[in-house]
Amino acid sequence: MLKKEYKYAYLGYTAEDKSAMTEYAERYRQFISKNKTERECVESFISLAKGYGYRDLNDLIDSKTPLKAGDKVYANYMNKTLLTFCIGSESVSSGLNILGSHVDSPRLDLKPNPLYEDNKFAMFKTHYYGGVKKYQWVTLPLAMHGVVAKKDGSVMKICIGEDENDPVLGISDLLPHLSADQMEKRLREAIGGEDLNICAGTFPIDSKENKDSAENKDAVENKDKATTDKVKENILQILNTKYDITEEDLFSSEIELVPAGSARDYGLDRSMILGYGQDDRVCAYASFEAQMEVNNPKYTTCSIFVDKEEIGSYGASGMQSQFFENSVAEILELLGEFSNIKLRRVLANSRMLSSDVSAGYDPNFPSVLEKNNAPYLGKGVVLMKYTGSRGKVASNESNAEYVAKLRDLMEKNNVTWQTGELGKIDQGGGGTIAHILAKHGMDVIDCGVPVHSMHAPWEITSKVDLYEMKKAYVAFLKDA
Ligand code: MN
Ligand code: MN
Repeated sequence: MLKKEYKYAYLGYTAEDKSAMTEYAERYRQFISKNKTERECVESFISLAKGYGYRDLNDLIDSKTPLKAGDKVYANYMNKTLLTFCIGSESVSSGLNILGSHVDSPRLDLKPNPLYEDNKFAMFKTHYYGGVKKYQWVTLPLAMHGVVAKKDGSVMKICIGEDENDPVLGISDLLPHLSADQMEKRLREAIGGEDLNICAGTFPIDSKENKDSAENKDAVENKDKATTDKVKENILQILNTKYDITEEDLFSSEIELVPAGSARDYGLDRSMILGYGQDDRVCAYASFEAQMEVNNPKYTTCSIFVDKEEIGSYGASGMQSQFFENSVAEILELLGEFSNIKLRRVLANSRMLSSDVSAGYDPNFPSVLEKNNAPYLGKGVVLMKYTGSRGKVASNESNAEYVAKLRDLMEKNNVTWQTGELGKIDQGGGGTIAHILAKHGMDVIDCGVPVHSMHAPWEITSKVDLYEMKKAYVAFLKDA
């Protein structure tokens, strides 16, 4: 077989294509600059989806509102996973056209009991989430995003470090002058998991201000004398003043440390985007725009924005939970068509793009990819027939007939696409949510964009690929 010569999509672009690509990339850049956690993505998607006429599935269930073709529905799970559906004109038994992306990204989470004082430094302990190269997370400005749930049922949202007037946090590293021992270590050990401690502050609490206004000044003074960890106490007071939370409230929190600041245009030619969390918000954002744009589809469309992919899709808001099957069952019920066998048929007859990123060929690291089967930045959306590692282990390998159908779909819709494999056979590998949905017997293939520096604090994508991916997703929802 001749190797297909992939063309650079950019050379075929009209002026309109170029401005559409640039505008799309800018909308995306702004989205990932503002939405850096799964909760923030889900909240933003819901508020945008409502503007497109999407209604809450739970409200429709409560009011027993029947669904019909053209209706738009969303289902929110724990504010961290979201499903969106647009009902098709064909019978739902012919299956759904599904885009499945994830909205969680690698980061550092605060531990359940995070705050401590060490020699007059207030510090937070973290436990990293997902696959991170730990040495990449030191000496970076970090922002704190998340929620603190209180016993009264209220939930405080936290975001510190994104406004240019906010302080940022971070993790220190050793100066080269004193790194003799550290430099002898293996890269994976140079910075250990328990070394990822965030410096939160150095000022001790100044109780004089409180004392002046306090009724019982002696009590304040005595408490002040009894407080040994005065720097830690000061941080707790800052959190209490700003968010009305106590140290114990941190136990019922989800606080994530992520790189602070906006995504940026990357390259002198502005051909790429540098940003945090592009795995997999680059595919989630494209799926979302595609889902919103396709009205009155032939087959019911569904876009999945799922949490917990980076830690194996476990847990109630991960893809291995039953929320997706339950929601499809609820939709069948509201269409007046629910039965167990019908649900199974709908799932088995569905088609899916597992919208997730791949590793792009990198001139700095040519040895880990096999050049004839590596995806390249700028050569379009990637159709990855299988993932897995070392002998396709734990992979969903998509069916040849399905791949052929998608080749035809891409060609008819002028989408520039490329094939890809996740690195050389013996080098490593990885997985996505593809294999979980494939359990229902549906056709699934991985389809996203190549990324440089994947899982690093700042990841890189090509604007051409973003644009081709969006076109591919629209074509898939409409015509697959
Ligand atoms: Mn991913
Ligand atoms: Mn990932």
